[in-house]
Amino acid sequence: MRPPTIWGFIHNMKLTVLGKYGPYGKAGTGAASSYLVENGKDCLVLDMGAGTLSRLIQAVDIRKVKYFYISHLHYDHTSDFLVLRYLLEEIGHKIVLFIEYEDSPWYKILTEHRNITVINVCEGREFTAGSFTLTFFRMKHTVPCLGVRIKGEKTLAYTGDTLYNDNIPALIDGADCVLADCSKPAGFKGPHMTVENAKKISREYGVRIIATHLSPGYSPEKEFSGEDKIETAQELKVYEL
Ligand SMILES: [Zn+2]
Repeated sequence: MRPPTIWGFIHNMKLTVLGKYGPYGKAGTGAASSYLVENGKDCLVLDMGAGTLSRLIQAVDIRKVKYFYISHLHYDHTSDFLVLRYLLEEIGHKIVLFIEYEDSPWYKILTEHRNITVINVCEGREFTAGSFTLTFFRMKHTVPCLGVRIKGEKTLAYTGDTLYNDNIPALIDGADCVLADCSKPAGFKGPHMTVENAKKISREYGVRIIATHLSPGYSPEKEFSGEDKIETAQELKVYEL
């Protein structure tokens, strides 16, 4: 356990949902995927979909944000990462981006910038980002995607975008909370988990789940009973982990 700070207490780890929709935000208000994770003074941003930069700088002083992770290269998880560089240039701030290498034009456009240091991650290895330890797991989507287990004062697992797959149990092993792409209606045919998958994970593993990646026209709240430890993500809500 980390020793108490000079202020005499240990900081909790917390999660702020900056955007919860995919593949685009809800009319007039919602934003696509992005999440801020804080552990003491360290900040890690998971993905940066459309409409989320303005929420990130509303939630935190961007100069305190050093670490970013992009789970996969779909536009609803990456587009505001391009806009971010205008802000980085303006204030002379440098960041570290964790991302899996991909030989593609979009990867090059996203990663090549003088204010961005890139660390290529891979499945099954631990990486350190300040006080965070990151471990990556292969997920099952239409493009390569890695879920990440983030260990700080607490442990958060993030699925990125995925169907249910055999690596989910390893990803969520020991997690206090799972931020999961599991908000599609039962019977949905596509590369995301459904409310049925969310209930199965909750019942089998007894883990707290924050259900995210909502379609703009569907919210799964009424599918989750009190027995399931599942909350539907709320934008700009701060979750203590
Ligand atoms: Zn995707």
